[in-house]
Formats: sequence, C-alpha cells, structure tokens
Amino acid sequence: MNGKFRNFNLDKNILKALNNLEYNKPSKVQSEVIPRLLNRQNVIVKSKTGSGKTASFAIPICENIDIDIKEVQALIVVPTRELALQVKEEVSNIGRIKKVRCSAIFGRQPIKEQIRELKQRVHVVVATPGRIIDHIERGTIDLSKIRYFIIDEADKMLNKGFVDDMEFIFNKIGKNSINGLFSATIDMDIQNICDKYFVESSLIEIETNEDINKKQIEDKKYISEEKDKYDNLKCIIYSESPKSLMIFCNTRERVIRLFEKMKKDKFLVAQLHGDMSQDKRIFVIKDFKEDKFNILVSTDVAARGIHIDDISLVINYDVPHDKENYIHRIGRTGRKDCYGKAITLVSSKDEKYLDEIQEYTGYEIQELQHINKDNIL
Ligand code: ADP
Ligand code: MG
Repeated sequence: MNGKFRNFNLDKNILKALNNLEYNKPSKVQSEVIPRLLNRQNVIVKSKTGSGKTASFAIPICENIDIDIKEVQALIVVPTRELALQVKEEVSNIGRIKKVRCSAIFGRQPIKEQIRELKQRVHVVVATPGRIIDHIERGTIDLSKIRYFIIDEADKMLNKGFVDDMEFIFNKIGKNSINGLFSATIDMDIQNICDKYFVESSLIEIETNEDINKKQIEDKKYISEEKDKYDNLKCIIYSESPKSLMIFCNTRERVIRLFEKMKKDKFLVAQLHGDMSQDKRIFVIKDFKEDKFNILVSTDVAARGIHIDDISLVINYDVPHDKENYIHRIGRTGRKDCYGKAITLVSSKDEKYLDEIQEYTGYEIQELQHINKDNIL
C-alpha cells in the first residue's frame, strides 16, 4: 500500500502536523506499520536504517491518545538518552497540534523533576530502561493504562544485558497494550520473548540493510595497521572531503585520543562518549545537527537510531566487535533516499571481526582504492 497519509483516516491535527513536517507521503515501512498499529495488532518490524520507523509508531500512537485522559497511554523504550530525546522530539512534533504531551525519562537527570513532570498530564513516555524501572519501583508511574508499548532498537534491548529489565517492564504493562518491536537488525533468536508477549504479531520485514547497503551505502574497507591508522584517516578525509563525517571507535579512551589529535590538527571536530556529562552529550548532538562542526568522533553510544541529516561519510576507525553495530554505525549515512559511503579501517587484529560482519551482511566488503597520500605523507 502506498499513497497518502490521508488514506489512514487520521485526525486532522495529525495530518496538519505531518504537513508542517513536510512528510508528504508515508515511507514503505510507514505504509505497512501504521494501519496495523491503528487496527491494534502487535508488530515486529525489521526495516533498514533511516527508513522512518519512528514515525511509523509515533503516528498511530498520537492518533490514539485520548488527550482528555491524564494518564500515560504509550511507553516507548530506547537504549540511549540521546535517542530518547530524538524520539520524544518526533512524537512531540507529530502530536503538537493535537496537544499530545510527551516526556523523555532517562538517567542522570534529577528524578524529582521527572516525578513532577509525570504527575502532570503526560500521555507518552520515551524512556531508557533503568530509569523507568526506578519510577515503577517508586510508584511514580502507572503502566496499567498503557495502550501502546514500543521497543525501539529491539534486538539491543532484548539481548542479555537488558532482557531482565525488559521482562520486568513487560510484566507491569496492562493487558490491553499493543506491542511493537522495531530495529534494522532483528534475528529470530528473540523468539521466546515474542511467543510470550507478541502473540499473533505481524512480522514486517521490508527493505532490510542486507538488501539496501549495496545500493544506498557504498561500504569499503581500507587495510591499515594500528600505527598507520591516523595518517590513513587523514588521507581518507582529504580524498573524500565529506561534507559531514562520523568516526566510530570501539572505546571511550580511543575516542578521546583521536579527538585530541584531530583537534590539534585543526579539524572542526567534536567527541561523544559515555564519560561526558549528559548536558554536554545533548549539546554535541544538537550542535552537530546544526552544522557547528562537521566531524564527530564517537563510541557506539551514537551508533543506533541517531538521525543527523546529510552525513555523507562514516569511518570505522576500529572494526566493531558486535556485528549488528556495523549495520547501525554505517546506517548513520545513506538515510531516507540519500546516498552515503562508509569506510572501515582494518588491521590484522581486526580481521576476524570483519569476517563475522561479512558473514552477517552476506557480502564481501570491497577494498577502497586510490586514496590520495600527497597532502600528508
Ligand atoms: P529509522 O528509525 O528507520 O532509522 P527515522 O525514524 O530516524 O529512521 O527517520 C529518518 C528520517 O526520516 C528522520 O529525519 C525523519 O524525520 C524523516 N522522515 C520520517 N518519515 C518521513 C516521511 N514520511 N517523509 C519525509 N521524511 C520522513
Ligand atoms: Mg530508529
């Protein structure tokens, strides 16, 4: 089904908001998911990075919120604070004219303010798991009236680190809730959870990254031993001259070290990792979105979900050890209908991780040819 948002019989205030956002027609995933969630079916959705998954759940949620009821009616759980804010923004934009109220609830922020916010009229909560559990245990949030429960980046949220938290939350959600799982990378190893909580769900799999990478994201590797990585990185940057670039490292220490070097070399660069204060992290993402600098060096904290327009190049300074994160990292470029490029630096130590990634994506990552070394070496 393609066509227009109007065909979904949405509230006119939601249609107006979509119009203001210049969302002229539903993306493929939205065409599939919106009618199902409106018809109150559980969904499990696998669709490529940048395909508009957020609005595919945010639109039906906003449509079905009864703004006169002063209760939390939808809960969206995400893995990072940055993503919580971004998803909150999307829900707020879509629900603004209808007056849907949405809050982002995450750790390292004053709990008292959150409690005050939750006591006011909040219809939709976007949260990270730890803090929502805190509120459940304090009795400051009631999930019994939830009509929609969404897990974004679901494979990450249901893997070993988070699954107990998620089950805890699931068990507090009222029985009338419609549940949705969303990610670009979902395998069926989460079947147990699905059987238990996603009864009779529609499995929607469209345009996965496996299909699309070759078309929309050109991903290459560049063989480089550790000691040459920095020089090679500079050569790649000069050769490719990206308008906007994200560089991923595997640890905070490596992000800090690379950031310091690049700053010294006068690149317009910022860093993002979990050792920074929450305010700083939020400002970095905001400034990057506003083009205040054009290179961001980050850990995997920004690998998932974060949408920044016009990132033309992603560089993996280190090969990710988690194969799914390869898809998510490179998926920061080539979003919506744009074209993007990703280059992964591979040392001999990294080869086994690259093999796992290639097995997972189902294609061999080709070597980058011709980088111009004249400027540097
Ligand atoms: P995903 O979660 O699938 O990675 P996002 O939900 O982050 O993708 O959406 C990517 C971008 O597409 C966002 O900037 C979002 O505002 C934009 N977007 C979503 N739906 C539409 C639409 N129907 N028309 C135009 N832009 C859209
Ligand atoms: Mg997303």
